[in-house]
Amino acid sequence: MAKINSVLGPISPDDLGLTLAHEHIIAGYAGWECDALSRPYNRQKIVNICLKALSPIKEFGVRSIVDATPIDLGRDVEVMKEVSEKLQVNIICATGMYTEELGKWAYLKQRRRSKIGDMATELYDTYLHELTQGIGNSGAKAGVIKVATGLDKISDCEMASLKAAARAQKETGVPIITHTEGGTMGPEQTDVLLSEGADPNKIQCGHMCGNPSLEYQLSVLKKGVNIAFDRFGIEYFLPDSVRTANLISLLQQGYADRILLSQDYISCGFGRGGILPPEEAKLFINWSFINIFRNIIPALKKAGINANQINTMTVDNPRRLFS
Ligand SMILES: [Zn+2]
Repeated sequence: MAKINSVLGPISPDDLGLTLAHEHIIAGYAGWECDALSRPYNRQKIVNICLKALSPIKEFGVRSIVDATPIDLGRDVEVMKEVSEKLQVNIICATGMYTEELGKWAYLKQRRRSKIGDMATELYDTYLHELTQGIGNSGAKAGVIKVATGLDKISDCEMASLKAAARAQKETGVPIITHTEGGTMGPEQTDVLLSEGADPNKIQCGHMCGNPSLEYQLSVLKKGVNIAFDRFGIEYFLPDSVRTANLISLLQQGYADRILLSQDYISCGFGRGGILPPEEAKLFINWSFINIFRNIIPALKKAGINANQINTMTVDNPRRLFS
């Protein structure tokens, strides 16, 4: 049976169990370290904040978390290792890069590796290294590739990352999980990955619940890939009621075996006051690692979605994606 790289070493797909498909143990937008008033980087304090935010998942039986933090969004594998060990939860970390607008692309651009082909090759080298050799001196290997595209377009850097991801997947067989911005470019980024030879069964097109149109979600599902309804609780963009209604409709149409659930929660964000400006917090009232268990799954059950369908989305689909 295929092995999965968790931050504490290899596990088997059967070890995954109930899995959150797209979360962040810690994350910070590039440049947070330039803010003199931001929270200092004290690893022990950060670990404690993460453990406090994550501990409620134990009550619901969560056994694994896919950490979708790309290299350039404050990823810290040492924190993930400590959290995984103390909480006794599997954490699978990602290699990959964030959007061109919000990621750290200056190095690749500044060295005039601006041609998509060159950049794609160098990104492929990095992705493959982190998947097969490990991340820095951490001893941990990435278990998944994360790619991202911006609002309404795929930039040159993002295109290079998509190509690199498809190539690294062909070599290693690991899943590719994606970020889409503002409910756009899901179909287009999927087309790029597929045309570069990625395996549709091992693509999880992310943040698909961020578009209110069912047509949009169906247009990606029809390409044979998986989609993630992974932003429950981020009501700043779209209320959970809309995300839930669309999810129910897709489940009624028989798509349980192609949908994964999560919240895109961040237990510890860097910068002044954490990841959210305080004035926005009221639009994130239910945002946590347990929103789907507390609010969304009960709403699905009320609408007639059965336990098998829920188990398919939260247990079977992650196992299949990583098998
Ligand atoms: Zn995310």
